[in-house]
Amino acid sequence: MRRITVLGATGSIGDSTLDVIRRHPERYAVHALTAHRQIDKLADRCAEFRPARAVVGSESAAAELRERLRVAGVGTEVLHGDAALAEVAADGEADTVMAAIVGAAGLRPTLAAARAGKRVLLANKEALVMSGAIFMDAVREHGATLLPIDSEHNAIFQCLPFDDPRYRAGVARVVLTASGGPFRTRDPASLHDISPDEACAHPNWVMGRKISVDSATMMNKGLEVIEAHWLFGAPAERIEVLIHPQSIVHSMVAYADGSVLAQLGNPDMRTPIAYGLAYPERIDAGVSPLDLVAAGTLAFETPDLQRFPCLALAFDALRAGGVAPAVLNAANEIAVDSFLQGAIRFTDIAGVVARVLEQGPRHAADSLDAVLQADQQARALARTLVQAGGRASAGARAGANVGTSAGNNAGNNAGNNAGNNAGTNAGAATPS
Ligand code: NDP
Ligand code: MG
Repeated sequence: MRRITVLGATGSIGDSTLDVIRRHPERYAVHALTAHRQIDKLADRCAEFRPARAVVGSESAAAELRERLRVAGVGTEVLHGDAALAEVAADGEADTVMAAIVGAAGLRPTLAAARAGKRVLLANKEALVMSGAIFMDAVREHGATLLPIDSEHNAIFQCLPFDDPRYRAGVARVVLTASGGPFRTRDPASLHDISPDEACAHPNWVMGRKISVDSATMMNKGLEVIEAHWLFGAPAERIEVLIHPQSIVHSMVAYADGSVLAQLGNPDMRTPIAYGLAYPERIDAGVSPLDLVAAGTLAFETPDLQRFPCLALAFDALRAGGVAPAVLNAANEIAVDSFLQGAIRFTDIAGVVARVLEQGPRHAADSLDAVLQADQQARALARTLVQAGGRASAGARAGANVGTSAGNNAGNNAGNNAGNNAGTNAGAATPS
């Protein structure tokens, strides 16, 4: 019986994880569940799964949850705050931790799980983007087992097991597929009036709002490029991005002998989650079988970096190294949140990130403190840019920012980067 802690149990990945666990009561017990603000939902989950411990964001949320659980007769111990999150992530009573908090808030608890030698199911890609070297060192030093849950990385993992170095030597490229999000074919001139709901309406996947906006800008794929770099030890020039609108091929590994291995399936996160939970076994995930005849055509195309400057910015940050990926991530979190709050336009996101990358800290990422300091500085700078840009003049700023920063990046740096990186495909990118 595996004992599982789910960090971010009330989110989209949390829902899918608990759905897989629910199907296998003989294999899995829930040790702890965490949430930030959604107390009602967490109370329901505690009533169903009876975890020993639960963690929420604030003292008042904890008091509310305690009262709900008392009335329901559920004996779960309730804690709150960052220290409690890290403590529960490292708790010796659990052997497996699903890291599914969104954003930088997931870094410390995910790292705590790695340092406690857990089987870490990593959905929280931002943790790895921010502190890749530190995180991978912690996994090695403490004998943790890291299993990627992000569908692309899970696909690559299935095609390239980490634990056999003989595979590594023969890898020519890892190929990340991307759906292209809801605006893949939309006229770029019409993008500045996009509402948060439109940006979150992903054609193939149902996800949390932050990652949905990231998919619409393709920053999600940019973060995943950095994630792949750390997980698979792949240099930027061996990571290729291909748009695959059907989201059936979840990613591929191209080998030196010309073989390309791909993992296919319906777009449903329960598949990679079940793989991570049961690894190396396979269990029912509740996912309907893939019908390739019904899927029909599987198409692939090169991403247009003019349309998706955030993808270019992420390649820039990966090449810059040091804290640049943490700066990229922090600026993006503030920009996306500001867009979701209506403070900036969709088209301002790339401009804010580009400015913060240009003007933000550039030191080495040699300690967690150095990373967190860069994260804080980048957030402050991004907030200043958002406030200076404000809703009223957002359009003008967006044009200026994206034109001068991200636009150039996309056209020059990233055009070159991705061209180099992505070999034949992205090399053929034709910024429109
Ligand atoms: P959601 O927004 O749906 O859920 C986020 C979870 O994190 C919730 O449980 C939320 O609690 C909790 N949370 C939010 N802020 C904090 C905080 N400051 N401290 C502690 N907990 C917090 O996100 P997703 O499930 O979509 O994504 C989770 C992670 O998985 C992200 O890193 C994402 O990139 C990654 N991922 C997601 C995929 C998907 O299909 N959704 C696919 C691949 C990767 P509350 O509900 O109480 O606010
Ligand atoms: Mg993904």
